Amino acid sequence: MSRVLVVEDESAIAELISINLRHAGHEVSVADRAEQAQQEVDRVLPDLVILDWMLPGQSGLALAKRWRGEARTRELPIIMLTARAEESDKVSGLDAGADDYLTKPFSTHELMARIRAVLRRKAPEALDSVVELGALRLDPATRRVGGGGGEVKIGPTEFRLLHFLMTHPERVHSRSQLLDRVWGDHVFIEERTVDVHVKRLREALLPVGCSAMIETVRGVGYRLTQQVLVAPVDPN
Ligand code: CA
Repeated sequence: MSRVLVVEDESAIAELISINLRHAGHEVSVADRAEQAQQEVDRVLPDLVILDWMLPGQSGLALAKRWRGEARTRELPIIMLTARAEESDKVSGLDAGADDYLTKPFSTHELMARIRAVLRRKAPEALDSVVELGALRLDPATRRVGGGGGEVKIGPTEFRLLHFLMTHPERVHSRSQLLDRVWGDHVFIEERTVDVHVKRLREALLPVGCSAMIETVRGVGYRLTQQVLVAPVDPN
């Protein structure tokens, strides 16, 4: 399941998009102006933003530029909506950092297809596709994890954490990034919570021989890797 923020001042359009997103299993929040959208993003980092260009006050375009300029929101997937159809406007939208662009009026089928495409590219942990990495296999639809021929017993938070790590392997994630992307809260949850759940996840993966895939990168955070360093066996 993914969190989608819809930023749209025309309530009929916001409603139409929200209904379709909820029907597809997404969790939706709606903002009708830039300031409110910023507050939503400060509170919980969404998996994707549908951003209308023309808003009262600050424009969606300015908002997209601001988000692209800040570390926390740099990778935030954005689909821009606009009534403008001119080619130059599409270019400005993409220059501002939008991942995709849709001109009103649009079909909800097309919007949903573009949302799936952007999520696949930028936030695959928000989709229900099976993920395989090394000996591990995670199925979001059945919430099952298998590894090394056995099934892994795993709690819901460890499941979300593993899902995120498996869809973003070989990269180091800070505790703050993990709180944002896995817990959806980077303000009120202590960073050591991450350590507690990483420990539990390693314990859960121990019986299938995969716990060493989760590396601690000192002073930075955690990484899931397939290139596990095996200590050489002492011949003596
Ligand atoms: Ca508008």
